[in-house]
Amino acid sequence: MSRGIRGWIFSGLFGAALIGGVLMVSAEGNKKSFAEHVVELRALALASGISEKVLDGAFEGIEEDFSVIEKLENQPEHTNAVWDYIKRAASEDRIRQGRDKLDAYSGVLSKIEKKYNVDPAVLVAIWGLESSYGTNMGTDNAIRSLATLAAFGGRRAGFGKEQLIAALKILENGDVTPEGLTGSWAGAMGHTQFIPTTYLAHAVDFDGDGKRNIWGSVADALASTANYLRVSGWRPENVWGVEVTLPPDFDFSEAGYGQRKKVQEWAGLGVDAVAGAMLPDGDAETSLILPAGANGPRFLVTRNFRAILRYNNATAYALAIAHLADRLNDKGPIVQEWPLDEKPLGRSERAELQGLLNDVGFSPGGVDGIIGSATRKAVRQYQRSKQLPVDGYPSTKLLDMLRREANL
Ligand code: CA
Repeated sequence: MSRGIRGWIFSGLFGAALIGGVLMVSAEGNKKSFAEHVVELRALALASGISEKVLDGAFEGIEEDFSVIEKLENQPEHTNAVWDYIKRAASEDRIRQGRDKLDAYSGVLSKIEKKYNVDPAVLVAIWGLESSYGTNMGTDNAIRSLATLAAFGGRRAGFGKEQLIAALKILENGDVTPEGLTGSWAGAMGHTQFIPTTYLAHAVDFDGDGKRNIWGSVADALASTANYLRVSGWRPENVWGVEVTLPPDFDFSEAGYGQRKKVQEWAGLGVDAVAGAMLPDGDAETSLILPAGANGPRFLVTRNFRAILRYNNATAYALAIAHLADRLNDKGPIVQEWPLDEKPLGRSERAELQGLLNDVGFSPGGVDGIIGSATRKAVRQYQRSKQLPVDGYPSTKLLDMLRREANL
């Protein structure tokens, strides 16, 4: 479906079917022009309580932006290794700049901490990763990007529509002018890259000028992020977690976000903080995670780590934020070694793994290249049947093993 969208955009642009710059005709038949989509989107916005005046201002001179669809189609299918991601995220340069920011904004950060009880280093880490401390917030007109996504975004059109209506509500509220409503091609905005629905629900005016300005006010942006983490379950008494060591006979089937225990229970299983660190105190719902499987670093994570996952639901992201925050707090690097010789599986390899698991009798749910809980369970069942560490991690070695088995 998504490939088809791109196909007809290009046939429209380069074929003979481009009429008046907006009407595109595909091989499959007539498609609505951007202008026709805008008429519909405006009607939807009106029904959602947006005024004609705001709509006129928002859509004035707005044309489709095909680069949005190109970027949608060209998102890298290949996953970066978690260690490469963390290395780039917590680079020496970003750590140094982050420490400068902690210093330069210490006054407002301590006020934010007093109100929201979120560790300032975590806020600065999110700021650093989301926009390189405000130097890369995205300059695309959000209405243009989101209207294009709503019109031509295929499977992402629903997201585009929802975010477009939310963006128009931001204009209706008067927090920002249409020219000031800028962001990434996908509509993430300001210093800490809020999407419009997150902005509407959680952005705050912290500097007291009456506007929630996540573009121009660092205080507003960081307080909004703190507010979002707090409503996502952040507990002030907790750290995010800690890197841990495991005893040699540890049962790796205990790992995963689904399994939550008290810290004392983990300690009873032989889980211990790495040298120089302490087990987190007070959180009754900690999980053991193995971001690169049994052969990589291990972490015990608290509800605060889950709050970071609400910001962006990827373990590599949350761990990068957590680790960068640790480094900003003068804690050391990750101690255990990553399995650098392991290449993470791409999407087609993950789908192949699922198909092969199915063939050998362990159902991974769907064969869609997405590793969910059903696939992890099937991986574990297979690992158990081969007397391997039961970490549920879809490694290249495991895929090779399944391939050999399939060829027997
Ligand atoms: Ca403000």
